[in-house]
Amino acid sequence: MKGINNKILKVNLSKQSSIIDKHNDNFYRKYIGGRGIALYYMHKEMEAGIDAFNPGNMLVFANGLLTGIPGPAVPRFTVCAKSPLTGGFGESEAGGFWGPELKRAGFDAIIITGKAKKPVYLWIKDGEVLFKDATHIWGKETGDAETQIRSELKDQRIRIAQIGPGGENLVKYANITNDLRHYNGRTGMGAVMGSKRLKAIAVRGTKRLPVAEKEKIVAVSRWAADEGMENPLAKGLHEVGTTASLMGNNEVGALPTRNWNKSYYEDAEKISGERMQETIGHRPGGCFSCPVRCKRVVSVEKENLKVDSQYGGPEYETLAAMGPVLEINDLSIIAKANELCNRNTIDTISAGMTVAFAMECYENGLLSKEDFDGLELNFGNGEAALSLIEKIVNREGIGDLLAEGSLSAAQKIGKGADKFIHQVKGQEIPMHDPRVKTGVGLQYALADYGADHMKAAHDVFYSNEDSHGTRTTKAVGIYEPVAPESIAEDKVRLFKALDNYWSLLDMLGACHFGFVPRGAVPLDKLMQLVQAATGQDISLYELIQGAERATDMSRLFNIKEGFTAEDDKLPEVFFSNIKNGPLKNKGAIDREKFEEAVQLRYNMMGWNDDGVPKKSKIFGMDLEDVVKV
Ligand code: SF4
Repeated sequence: MKGINNKILKVNLSKQSSIIDKHNDNFYRKYIGGRGIALYYMHKEMEAGIDAFNPGNMLVFANGLLTGIPGPAVPRFTVCAKSPLTGGFGESEAGGFWGPELKRAGFDAIIITGKAKKPVYLWIKDGEVLFKDATHIWGKETGDAETQIRSELKDQRIRIAQIGPGGENLVKYANITNDLRHYNGRTGMGAVMGSKRLKAIAVRGTKRLPVAEKEKIVAVSRWAADEGMENPLAKGLHEVGTTASLMGNNEVGALPTRNWNKSYYEDAEKISGERMQETIGHRPGGCFSCPVRCKRVVSVEKENLKVDSQYGGPEYETLAAMGPVLEINDLSIIAKANELCNRNTIDTISAGMTVAFAMECYENGLLSKEDFDGLELNFGNGEAALSLIEKIVNREGIGDLLAEGSLSAAQKIGKGADKFIHQVKGQEIPMHDPRVKTGVGLQYALADYGADHMKAAHDVFYSNEDSHGTRTTKAVGIYEPVAPESIAEDKVRLFKALDNYWSLLDMLGACHFGFVPRGAVPLDKLMQLVQAATGQDISLYELIQGAERATDMSRLFNIKEGFTAEDDKLPEVFFSNIKNGPLKNKGAIDREKFEEAVQLRYNMMGWNDDGVPKKSKIFGMDLEDVVKV
């Protein structure tokens, strides 16, 4: 098969040794890439029930099948491990340039086990692997560490995936950054890297990735850069990025505000994406071979509040989690919070939601000023929020408790503190309200790695016949629109199909914002890329089967770790009406109908009423040898 290297690098940090695994083409057709490859190894070679910080935990960096080909919006790679935040399957995708560079350096994936005796980084160049001492950069923020690594390897073109102090200090929602501004956020993969004393992986490849039909791939790239960029969705992402969602969500009355106690923020305009562009916006940023360039880069030059543009800028999730959720209406403070999280590698959604939880505990007298070392942690106090983020990164004072995640912190605080957390499987919820898009709620409840907004396209893309989604994804079996607030059987069917398709994009390394229904590139062009890259007659049916197979595998991973149907719950707040704004006194999700929808989804997947994949499904997916029935 072309488009891949057929080499998976296995690294043991305890022994400072490495070997290479090879498979036949069928392996890649069956497991595709990303989570498919990771789950194959995590089932086959990892002991169930170990602690996430046990050296036996497997940290897998896996490219998608298309990552690094010269096609549009295919930069992504996945990092998986047992999550220290949820205790189950952890997974996170990132864009940038690191994944494509790893492929050029000769590997499709890296599987890391063990724990180094002292901090190390890996240096991978054109198939060679070296273990380098990282003692002198352990404790450094990511910008300084990157400068140091580049200068000692004497190559400014290397790409570096790394952790900052948040990962080193085992903050359970620490992430991994590459090129300082692209992130494997969520589920604490950076903490697993920190537990292995692995500071960074520097990669450099000087060879071209072999593909079967380069001209066909380049033709799709040209189409995407010209006609594709005429699409309003692609244009909007380029001009304002995801930050446009802030005003959109506020206008409909579904912008999480004051730790989800409100859904409309009076000061939203002060922190809108458009305002950010006019005031602190620097330039758009992007990923390997992508014409959309949706990312934001900001800088602030205020006295005592400088924000360094090398760490990028807030996306919608961060803007909301550090803005309305904390009732902070100052863009400079939000940009600083984003930069603090980024340079220290902690997830901005979990950090914002954990600070919001602490604020609500403070305002309700569960925690005092003394508990925060003198900080007055009222909603709206931006300076206090910044100080608390630094405490979390360094596990200083109460930061040590909050670094464990909001669920764990609430359990330790007691006194009813759990009223103020909003999470699924221990992971704090993202900034989209299931009361106005119930499919997103289903995905929050069912995602094996905890609440995540990137588990499927959102309901709004299927709201009527003319919606971009309804028009563009018929080839994956989606024919009819479904109302965003409906939680009936047709919504369950829609989101089963979308879950498979979205998982497939991840496993291909394709960005959700590049391809339909969120982006412009249509499904037939996606399939042209797959076939032109690999030179094989791979079908869409086969790929969707592969995506569903991976979902069965992640479900089975969690079952081995003790998860049950009880863990597939939506936070309580969504079963109550919205409290202010245009949707005041409306929106509560019908609990009974939601529970019926979860049951129906289990059964549609070939799982029993307890959410366990049936033996027939496991055999049907040809998984019996992998998951060891
Ligand atoms: S659309 Fe945005 S996130 Fe996706 S590949 Fe392009 S620049 Fe990166």
